[in-house]
Amino acid sequence: MPAVTRSRLAVVVAVVSAVVSWAPPARAQEPLSRELERLNWMEVRELVPSKIRTVLLPLGTLEGHGVAVNGSDTVAPLAMARAIAPKLNALIAPAVPYGITGSLEAYAGGLTIPDEAYRPYVRAILQGLARNRFKNVVLLNGHGGNTAALNAVAAEVGREAGVRTLVVNWWTLCSDVTLEVFGEDGGHAGENENAYVMAIDPSNLRRERYTGPEMAIPNPVAGAYSAYPSPASILLYKPGQGLPRFDLVKAKEYFEKVNAKVAALVEDIVARWDRAGI
Ligand SMILES: [Zn+2]
Repeated sequence: MPAVTRSRLAVVVAVVSAVVSWAPPARAQEPLSRELERLNWMEVRELVPSKIRTVLLPLGTLEGHGVAVNGSDTVAPLAMARAIAPKLNALIAPAVPYGITGSLEAYAGGLTIPDEAYRPYVRAILQGLARNRFKNVVLLNGHGGNTAALNAVAAEVGREAGVRTLVVNWWTLCSDVTLEVFGEDGGHAGENENAYVMAIDPSNLRRERYTGPEMAIPNPVAGAYSAYPSPASILLYKPGQGLPRFDLVKAKEYFEKVNAKVAALVEDIVARWDRAGI
């Protein structure tokens, strides 16, 4: 081969290899879907556990949320799971949309599952995920009424099935993000939670139905009183703070920062489990 042709060939090889190495590497690794219900059994078998060890399980409930949709507690963690799953290289289990609703059950469309039915149901889901060979089972909880049951059941299944479980209550974990973005604390169906579901889809809020601060009430100081039904569905963590303001720009900022903080928590805890060999 003449020297000129050889050098041309070398240039072509260099260009081709540059183009190949320039191809986005993550894309090729991305599964067809990260949602368990949208994969078939052969695809799941190829992914878990050899390529994917983590599953995200969103859990919520149905209850009154001021002017936000009743399913906000499921809408939020499901969108969160979709947002953070690629970064965590996780799959997403189908959400559990029914939960333990407390004193908001009386508001139209509210629904509650008794604790004694909820716990074994969630337990069976966690055991099923463990049997499917996920190592890290992350419960993305959207509803405070579920927390005690989830903490207990997740720890039990972790112990029994030899998996690691993590329950995340995003609104509490991210109370500093709420302060940073809004300059004040939030509330149930308050500015923080409203902002999160607004960022997902502004039609999750019926802004025209917000009539003002009289729609909200501060949470009672612990032990001060207990009312059933709750006298309002917007419950402020601190008096005068966290009233809805419907700011879409801040909502999108909040959504991104909350997701980043939740993802960082999961990454950190999984890395610690790995380092400890547990
Ligand atoms: Zn909620």
